[in-house]
Amino acid sequence: MEGLMMGTQLLVSSLLRNAAINHPTTEVVSRSVEGPIHRYGYADLERRARRLANALQGLGVGPSDRVGTLAWNTWRHLEIYYAASGSGAVCHTINPRLFPPQIVYIVNHGEDKVLFLDLTFVPLVEQLASRFETVEAFVIMTDEANMPEIRLPGALCFETLMKAASEDFEWPSFDENTASSLCYSSGTTGNPKGVLYSHRSTVLHAMAAALPDVVDVSARDVTMPVVPMFHVNAWGFPYYTPMMGAKLVLPGPLADGASIHELLENEGVTISAGVPTVWLGLLQYLEETGKALSTVKRLVIGGSAVPRAMTEAFLDRYGVEVRHAWGMTEMSPLGTINTPPHGMQDETPEQFCDRQVKQGRAFFGVEMKIVDDDDNTLPEDGVAFGMLKVRGPWVCSAYYKESGSDTHDGNGWFATGDVATIDETRNMQVTDRSKDVIKSGGEWISSIELENIAVGHPDVAEAASIGVQHPKWDERPLLVVVRREGAELSRGDMLAYFEGRVARWWVPDDVVFVDELPHTATGKLLKMQLREDYKDYVLPTAGG
Ligand code: ADP
Repeated sequence: MEGLMMGTQLLVSSLLRNAAINHPTTEVVSRSVEGPIHRYGYADLERRARRLANALQGLGVGPSDRVGTLAWNTWRHLEIYYAASGSGAVCHTINPRLFPPQIVYIVNHGEDKVLFLDLTFVPLVEQLASRFETVEAFVIMTDEANMPEIRLPGALCFETLMKAASEDFEWPSFDENTASSLCYSSGTTGNPKGVLYSHRSTVLHAMAAALPDVVDVSARDVTMPVVPMFHVNAWGFPYYTPMMGAKLVLPGPLADGASIHELLENEGVTISAGVPTVWLGLLQYLEETGKALSTVKRLVIGGSAVPRAMTEAFLDRYGVEVRHAWGMTEMSPLGTINTPPHGMQDETPEQFCDRQVKQGRAFFGVEMKIVDDDDNTLPEDGVAFGMLKVRGPWVCSAYYKESGSDTHDGNGWFATGDVATIDETRNMQVTDRSKDVIKSGGEWISSIELENIAVGHPDVAEAASIGVQHPKWDERPLLVVVRREGAELSRGDMLAYFEGRVARWWVPDDVVFVDELPHTATGKLLKMQLREDYKDYVLPTAGG
């Protein structure tokens, strides 16, 4: 027997309509690319998104057509999010920090019909435009007064386009499984892969993310995603902030400590989010200036592991709770977040910081398990580690225009490529990416753990460890280190530092010092490059 309830479709446009109707004057505040602060209410945002939806139709954008963006976190970018998805097209955010040939690949693979770009990216697009095979129009996200001289065929000004369009538009209803947005994972191996989100997955992810044990957003909050809108939809903030009717602050192109602090304080931000590097910059700025954080309650940090020292500094010195989160492009992105179960509410600050080192627990909507090489489920004892697999309504079921990928196992589970432990409280800890694990004599060594130890040394600025070929053990760890400025750390000092901190056989076989390490477009260590650089490296232990 079927239930007798309405089959209202879960659509992205409903998030914005809710904000416009129930929270019309609650503000969206942005630092513009041009410089000044821009502010308006959700009702204004919804009106302008309708206008832009008409403008998109005028440009020939129809259902399912891809609308590309190369843009920072601002109100105009948000308008594109809603106008494109809300009208049935697909909002395709592109990471401008990628290597230019990858940008060309992504635009062509995604078959973008229109490309919106911020002023910052005009020179980049001028260079690449002739290689874009499907783009019919380029829209510069600025007003007439700031429109530069442009060498692009069919370049249009955003505000001119808006002025000419009518506000008269009804958000259409359609199947909630329709594609709403597209995002490519930065591709540490091979070509970037497209993850195609649906309206349903986006709304369900937003509803789950807003819950108290996840990001915890209410109408009384002010959120500021520092994580870019070109990085997995800014972890969903542009959806669940309007959904809850909270005030939204968009930091534009500036993510340095001073600029972030200014917005946090001036706008009364209560919740912010981003990768560890951003918060390291803020902590340094706070230390140098002696300033405080007067309104921030919570920082959601993820994308790479959060060092314990960071959690401790925010808690002890600024009274701010760090919530360590884990996820990926393929998961919309939230998979786990570190909030404790019932019975653990009385932990000491010390215990809190210890717990936050792990990436957290799955919440409703996400199932996870760890498996060995034969796909047997491993014990959840915090010791056994294996491939982390996940499933749920906001996990990708296949890559866009890609067949035969080995990441889906036929039983509905997606192999994340991360190696992890899960403990008795179901707190998950990433020990490595599967391709980065160092395989020594059939046993696994966690490269992340070696790096975490190395960066604990006061003379180390950054460190990476990779497996290098070894005649006896197959692979042995090599540590590549960037010294802190002025420090005189030796190979012997570095290796001695590992003693007592890991099993003997985990201690790296050698250390090399470099001026800098290669990074991906999202700021992660580019291990693939390092492995290539050191593929013929002869370890001192290789002789016997
Ligand atoms: P890519 O870096 O391949 O583009 P994503 O940007 O989607 O992919 O990043 C997802 C990956 O980032 C995860 O699979 C995991 O390896 C890493 N990651 C994300 N959050 C954390 C975290 N809190 N701690 C450690 N690693 C993390």
